[in-house]
Amino acid sequence: MSQPIIEIRNYSLNFWTFDGVYHALDDVNLTVEKGQSLGIVGETGCGKSVTVRNILGLLPSPPAEVVSGEILYDGKDLLKALPAEMHRIRGIEIAMIFQDPMTYLNPVFTVGRQLVDVVLAHNRARGQGEKISRKDAETRAIEMLNKVRLPNAEKQMSNYPHQLSGGMRQRVLIAMALIGRPKLLIADEPTTALDVTIQAQILELIAELVEELNLSVMMITHDLGVVAKSCDRVAVMYAGKVVETGTVAQVFDHPAHPYTQGLLRSIPHPEKNVSVLEGIPGFLPNLLDPPAGCRFAERCPRALDICRKVTPVGNPLAGGHVASCHLAEELEAASA
Ligand code: SF4
Repeated sequence: MSQPIIEIRNYSLNFWTFDGVYHALDDVNLTVEKGQSLGIVGETGCGKSVTVRNILGLLPSPPAEVVSGEILYDGKDLLKALPAEMHRIRGIEIAMIFQDPMTYLNPVFTVGRQLVDVVLAHNRARGQGEKISRKDAETRAIEMLNKVRLPNAEKQMSNYPHQLSGGMRQRVLIAMALIGRPKLLIADEPTTALDVTIQAQILELIAELVEELNLSVMMITHDLGVVAKSCDRVAVMYAGKVVETGTVAQVFDHPAHPYTQGLLRSIPHPEKNVSVLEGIPGFLPNLLDPPAGCRFAERCPRALDICRKVTPVGNPLAGGHVASCHLAEELEAASA
């Protein structure tokens, strides 16, 4: 049986705001096994990015406050890791690709300077002192830019981010993420800021590099097509909770949660001639004051009285498929 590379267990997180305590995550449980790709989907504001950011300690406290849980990486709880340990893990063990390449590249330094600095910083964090020269770091940076197929890699080293297109900048960010040879890659909506043709190229590139470098992946996206194409498993999030997990085939072919069913119905199908796409009526609940019971109840076409009183827990279905719904078994059977 495969070993988990990362396990998020019973993870709850609040934000302290001027309006009160925002209950951003509630009892999140997720596992990624070595060599596996997990897609995390859900609408904007459901907690996808917040869930993964603290894997790298990227949520300052305050305003973020971990209420409970643990994030185990190779068995070690990252929530308790010392700053020096996190410094070593970031980029070397776990790396992240962010959604807006312009925001995450420094506009006042050249691409080459930024990549070389990353190589040198990783080298120091690994405790290898001055073993790598700036010249060798430059060579490593050019190799990586060639690997992510950035045209004229050597010349681009002296360019500034604003001189590159959005797709080229995202290739630089991917190079920056992978240059430390991490084991786990977190891709947080890596194609959101790009146009459709570039999106396809970037996703293809990530898939090839994942295969070549034998990476485990957490892919955050609101695009179910991306998950279907590039992930082994999927976790559906709603209002700070994981509502359904399973293999892509289990969740997409036999959805057992009304929210997942609604998401799948909202995908356009070119072969179906419909003039209006089906949506999910209503809005996310206000997490300053989360509702009792099921957080999806106000929007759920199947809601019962019990749903507004009793919070559904993960209901294990066949083959590791889990849905947090009082009607999960019935819904899964109906979708067979
Ligand atoms: Fe709908 Fe009830 Fe299931 Fe929540 S628990 S998704 S309200 S049927």
